[in-house]
Amino acid sequence: MSPYSLQHDRRADRALLLALGALARLTGQYRPVVLRYHSIDPSRSRLSVSRENFAAQMDYLARAGFAVVPLAEAVAGGGKRRRVALTFDDGYRNNLAEAVPILEAHGFPVTFYIAPLLLDTLPRWAAPDQDGLRIMSHGELCELAARPGVTIGAHTLTHRRLDTLDADAAGDEIRGAKRELAALLGGEIDSFCYPHGAYTRETVALVRKWGYRSACTVAPGTALRLKSLFEICRVYVAPTMTLSEFAAALTVASDWRLAVRGEFRKVMTRVSDK
Ligand SMILES: [Zn+2]
Repeated sequence: MSPYSLQHDRRADRALLLALGALARLTGQYRPVVLRYHSIDPSRSRLSVSRENFAAQMDYLARAGFAVVPLAEAVAGGGKRRRVALTFDDGYRNNLAEAVPILEAHGFPVTFYIAPLLLDTLPRWAAPDQDGLRIMSHGELCELAARPGVTIGAHTLTHRRLDTLDADAAGDEIRGAKRELAALLGGEIDSFCYPHGAYTRETVALVRKWGYRSACTVAPGTALRLKSLFEICRVYVAPTMTLSEFAAALTVASDWRLAVRGEFRKVMTRVSDK
């Protein structure tokens, strides 16, 4: 592994994204993008976006004329090129009070990925004093699911890493979440999201087998960069992301950046090998 990597230099990486974003916007290069959010709170944890930043991002989507569509529509062929879908992972309680009113004001559809056995808990990745990261209750989930434009997807039963489980245990997590959520909310649960973005080829086969129609990863880039509805890539919205970076990330610059980083790494590896 080369020590030279743009990935390790955040400033260079930001400058690269902005430059590529400017080029992409100038030349009108867009592909469908799925945005990945978690908690809407002011803590600036890596899972948090402030309400002010979130509101500004949604205003930007509306002002710039993006079609904010349900996930299934974003990844379907055809349609408008500048399509964006919104996703929230884990079901933090604050999503209902902080994100939903802003989304409803714009009429934007949204998908929430829920691990039903985590409902009403402080998840294991939150520190004891991070009560802002509490997961919503059963009642709150039912309230959320009834709001207009809201789709609920499955995030396994208990949010375990599926790449570490045998096929039976992984199957139970994948099938169990669908069954639990359908029993709680009624209707069909047909979208899935891999906890921690961890999956193998076997995991993908199990997700298909148990009747889901799509699955989201945490791989970066535009939605169909990996050309699979079961490996949808998403743009992570970091707490420190500026509105200019947000605008750049909604273009194919999201993919170009990865390609440039890869090329840069190859070149530097060759240089350092000499
Ligand atoms: Zn998660």
